[in-house]
Amino acid sequence: MKEQQPIPFIDLGAQYETVEQPLEAAVLSVLRSQQFILGPTVKNFESACEAYCNVPFAMGVSSGTDALLIALMALGIGPGDEVIVPDFSFFATVGSVVRVGATPVFVDIDPATFNMDPAAVSAAITSATKAVIPVHLFGQCADMTSIVAIARKHGIFVIEDAAQAIGASCEAGNAGAIGDIGCFSFFPTKNLGGIGDGGLVTCQDPNLYNRLIQLRNHGSSPKYNHVLVGGNFRLDAIQAAALSVKLNYLDSWTKARREHASYYSASLQGIDGIELPTEVAGNKHVYHQYVIKVPGRRDELRKRLSDAGIGTEIYYPKPLHKQPCFQNAPDDHCPQAQHASESVLALPIFPELTKEQLDRICNAISELF
Ligand SMILES: *Cc1c(COP(=O)(O)O)cnc(C)c1O
Repeated sequence: MKEQQPIPFIDLGAQYETVEQPLEAAVLSVLRSQQFILGPTVKNFESACEAYCNVPFAMGVSSGTDALLIALMALGIGPGDEVIVPDFSFFATVGSVVRVGATPVFVDIDPATFNMDPAAVSAAITSATKAVIPVHLFGQCADMTSIVAIARKHGIFVIEDAAQAIGASCEAGNAGAIGDIGCFSFFPTKNLGGIGDGGLVTCQDPNLYNRLIQLRNHGSSPKYNHVLVGGNFRLDAIQAAALSVKLNYLDSWTKARREHASYYSASLQGIDGIELPTEVAGNKHVYHQYVIKVPGRRDELRKRLSDAGIGTEIYYPKPLHKQPCFQNAPDDHCPQAQHASESVLALPIFPELTKEQLDRICNAISELF
């Protein structure tokens, strides 16, 4: 038998090969212009994102984390305010809440989608609740119809953490175009990845947009007149140039991700001991990750795949409330988030995967069960 190449969890080099020429030309042109901060390259990228996400305003920022932070700042959220977050997400979702001085309130997830459970959101609302942050985890929108209805009823803001979900949609609309503010990340491994850090905020309201624009640049308006205390949350022109090129490919990459997901689901269906991800009717899932649940045998399967040269990841190994920086939350706080953290395994889903690689992964999984 011939020696088999390992299958990495993600292969950014494979994507680079497909965009190398236009990407290098775009970066070089910024270099030659010597205009590195904001300017027309960033503006053009923002306009392209407004069209892509079907939202009136998009503003480039320095990272997905900063998108969340500036969103909370723009909505005036701070000490004494409670913000509802899912217990199962990347740390930035809750970290940004704590950084503005507000109190995170963790709610459990729907085990079928890994997304925030709307019933748990309802139950968590108090007179101090100011906002809720649904995360469109792994590329599928949270139940935005229910969450928006709850938020309207109680007069609280909705900040979408769409870091993993550019191009996703649901019955309520496109990811990032539904709530008060949408937050995106262009971390290199995201579905639309930069050549460094970057992010985006989207919104519908022109006044909120103006406030975001001010906050992005130390609250200055006009220059050297500071009407708010903001920060440096700017997106670099080099990132905007690279992202503008890659945005042209995003639909084809999403299509490939969705095809890989269907292929996995068809091949792995019926294997006892594995739960496959579900795509809710009416949702367009963009499969930032393809995450299976392997209750009781997750680590064994991960080791088996690793021995076969196949990369996998665990998103996320701990519910947020169990992070050491949040010492006092009770242990049985969010049982579904806890269960997910113990059973999830993300399989390779990058667009350039081949059928042969997918077959090898599926075969290696079925061999164990
Ligand atoms: C990646 C990510 C972020 C943070 O984005 P950065 O660009 O890495 O700062 C926030 N939330 C979620 C759900 C993410 O996956």
